[in-house]
Amino acid sequence: MTSAENVLIKFLERLARQLSVWYYRTRVKTTILVIVKQREGVCMSSPIKNASDLLKKHNITSIPIDVEAICREEGINISYADLREVEEKHKKPISGILLVTGDKKDIVVNKNDIPERKRFTIAHELGHYFRHYDHSASPDSMMISFRSARTEKEYEADEFAAKLLMPKEYVEEEYKKLTVPYISTLAKEFNVLKAAMAYRLDTLGMRYIQL
Ligand SMILES: [Zn+2]
Repeated sequence: MTSAENVLIKFLERLARQLSVWYYRTRVKTTILVIVKQREGVCMSSPIKNASDLLKKHNITSIPIDVEAICREEGINISYADLREVEEKHKKPISGILLVTGDKKDIVVNKNDIPERKRFTIAHELGHYFRHYDHSASPDSMMISFRSARTEKEYEADEFAAKLLMPKEYVEEEYKKLTVPYISTLAKEFNVLKAAMAYRLDTLGMRYIQL
């Protein structure tokens, strides 16, 4: 690479940071491609843009949403492990880890979590996979999800998970069936935590009884 090209790349990288754009350098060393990041932070190269597209792709039409089937069909291996050692190393509670190395895709779930949280973790890691992992560029990357982390990406992955596990049309359908909208009844239908169900109903502007 010539020094002029280096200067140009440095300039574009700085510009990208300042403008909050997403960029990547292709394998052709003299080429640089700058892509403006979408508002929601969707990775432009991801084949799936949102949770509803993923549900459509896998022809999922019933609840509770089978996240394990989605992973199977996407070639993502799920394993359940004791993450206490990892938690001790990072000094944080960890619910899941997304590992992508070449063609190998793994979601590691904390086996000590309750089933509803495990399902949410899988959906959350799918959010990272489809929204944050660059499917066209880097062949190797690794992502760790911290349960307590409150970054923009973590928020986006949670939002993806909520929409995947509790799709709007199904929530509305189940809600209509209830005489009294108890949160526990809906949470059971969708096989999610009551807190997750409450959050989803809040975002949809639907009222419920906290029981
Ligand atoms: Zn995460």
